[in-house]
Amino acid sequence: MKDPKDYAFETRAVRAGQHRTAEGEHSEAIFPTSSFVFENAAQAAARFGGTEPGNIYSRFTNPTVRTFQERLAAMEGGEACVATSSGMAAILSTCMALLKAGDHIVSSRSVFGTTTSLFGNYLTRFGVEVSFVSLPDLAQWEAAIRPGTRMLYLESPSNPLTELVDIRALAELARARDCLLVVDNCFCTPALQQPLALGADIVIHSATKYLDGQGRCVGGAVVGDAERVGKEVFGFLRTAGPTMSPFNAWVFIKGLETLALRMRAHSDNAMQLANWLRDHPAVERVYYPGLEDHPQHELAKRQQSGFGGIVSFDVPGGREAAWRVIDATEMLSITANLGDAKTTITHPATTTHGRLTPEQREEQGIGEGLIRVAVGLESIADIQADLAQGLGG
Ligand SMILES: *Cc1c(COP(=O)(O)O)cnc(C)c1O
Repeated sequence: MKDPKDYAFETRAVRAGQHRTAEGEHSEAIFPTSSFVFENAAQAAARFGGTEPGNIYSRFTNPTVRTFQERLAAMEGGEACVATSSGMAAILSTCMALLKAGDHIVSSRSVFGTTTSLFGNYLTRFGVEVSFVSLPDLAQWEAAIRPGTRMLYLESPSNPLTELVDIRALAELARARDCLLVVDNCFCTPALQQPLALGADIVIHSATKYLDGQGRCVGGAVVGDAERVGKEVFGFLRTAGPTMSPFNAWVFIKGLETLALRMRAHSDNAMQLANWLRDHPAVERVYYPGLEDHPQHELAKRQQSGFGGIVSFDVPGGREAAWRVIDATEMLSITANLGDAKTTITHPATTTHGRLTPEQREEQGIGEGLIRVAVGLESIADIQADLAQGLGG
């Protein structure tokens, strides 16, 4: 087989990382084994000493997990990938491997709530400081960087308001100021956005979301260069053990094979839903990067190859009205998860962003009337009909 990099994206998603065994299996095999045996004592010594490559123990070497890692690395355009037990484990492993006491992170304020908590409530205990800035505002990022700043951290588009940042511009700033740019690419996946090609140093994934795509397993990944990710993040994983299980890796491998198709379908459904909501008299405002009146529509067209599956909208009447719309649905799943074939609906102000103070929510533009839909793969007509029940037709 050619080097995976020489194949198109869709081909890498299906073929990269498979190492067929002597059994000739067509689909990737699962290796549910905790350890591996050696030919003799000398080989065991060579494997442990690192002079001979090969499997040792599934905390850090497992063939199924390796297939997932090689495939995702090929899809993101990275040299190395380290799979982890969850998306949060991917973020923790990156920070533990690459930061030390006295370092400073500049993070977008609009990141996954648990990420904010990891930075603000836990890393700070170990002497790492954090500042939060507004995602799209490059001047705020620049002003927040100080001599000890080691990492810039973001998600684009943001959750739930789908704001973007110019990743290429931020990558230039990171390089000029000698910090790492880390992008959580969970919402777009490499099918729609490839941050490493835009100049980012490290990509984070919660594989739990679109990489699986059907809501089955929890997992995560870190993708980047051979030194920082292949050696340092891998070294932390090997030592601390937030490891992906072979079974979960196998589920994600099969998820990656259909990722490009699914992301196109999620984006098509979301675009149709956004247009329908924008024209709906009971809807005040729609947030979706595919809409021409989205403030960063042009950036989204340039930076992403699709607009993604997340659509948010405001209804007048605050919490009561938003809850009425949510509770009137019969098919949509009321859950804060996303990236599933099944459409999910949530009220950010009282769930994902419920731990923020009312002032913080106000500052971030997350109102009581805001509803987020992670558009799935059902027929768009059925999704709209379900939402129409609470929107008065
Ligand atoms: C879900 C999520 C995470 C955390 O991933 P887990 O797999 O739940 O640990 C991180 N970032 C984003 C953007 C997410 O949506």
